[in-house]
Amino acid sequence: MLIGLLPVEGVAGADMDALEAFVTRHYGCATRRLPDLAMPADGYDAHRSQYEATALLKAALLVRPADVDRLLVVTDKDIFIPMLTFIFGQAQVEGPTALLSLARLKQEFYGMTGRRDLMLERAHKEIVHELGHTFGLVHCQDRQCAMALSINVTNIDIKRDSLCGGCARNLAGRLEALGW
Ligand SMILES: [Zn+2]
Ligand SMILES: [Zn+2]
Repeated sequence: MLIGLLPVEGVAGADMDALEAFVTRHYGCATRRLPDLAMPADGYDAHRSQYEATALLKAALLVRPADVDRLLVVTDKDIFIPMLTFIFGQAQVEGPTALLSLARLKQEFYGMTGRRDLMLERAHKEIVHELGHTFGLVHCQDRQCAMALSINVTNIDIKRDSLCGGCARNLAGRLEALGW
């Protein structure tokens, strides 16, 4: 399995390094860092001062190399889909692409002093969550499982950056079926 990492312009290189190291460690697979993706012009909603997740995913699919099995797109901008106020991330279920926003994982977003370690911890959990969707996993009722739905950072802080036993077995079966 090869996981590509695609930073959207603006994400700090050091943050991408840390996230890439986590992906390598967590999945034990090869990774490839792609050049920064320019923010698509139609992605910004001036009314909401947010970026539309779907526009980002579309732009990412256009640059996805064919040999990359899964593509993790990372932005530091606040993102939304029309039916929700905001989202931490989005994924194509059993599709190749997952999107993660770092914006609301940062303490600064809530008027607090920045804590990079906490931001990265939260990002790790949401990476396992969104990539989990791309492997076909659905939301889990175990609040500590990475596949639990999070609607705020408190929910994320309760979770682990790993899957519960049931989700882990499900994932192993799916990866085996894919030959990964
Ligand atoms: Zn989810
Ligand atoms: Zn679970």
